[in-house]
Amino acid sequence: MFDFGDVRSIVIQCSECGGRTSVPPEVKWQLSKFIACPICETEWFGRDYETAAKPYIDAMRCVERARRLLEDAPPRFAIRLEVDDPC
Ligand SMILES: [Zn+2]
Repeated sequence: MFDFGDVRSIVIQCSECGGRTSVPPEVKWQLSKFIACPICETEWFGRDYETAAKPYIDAMRCVERARRLLEDAPPRFAIRLEVDDPC
């Protein structure tokens, strides 16, 4: 198990080339930098990339929000995540 405070980076792996990009969770996500693989340049989303990519960026921003919340105002409970098969 791990909690949000354990997250050191978010790794985005391209399904096409297998290349990985690792970014700290506190990064300022920019949609324009998240539309294609920085290694093989495969476009990850279609023509309407803004709509398609936004939910993913929102999810990644939530990791940082959870980290800050748990650090700034620790609750009287813990939120931990279990993984079946760590990569
Ligand atoms: Zn790629």
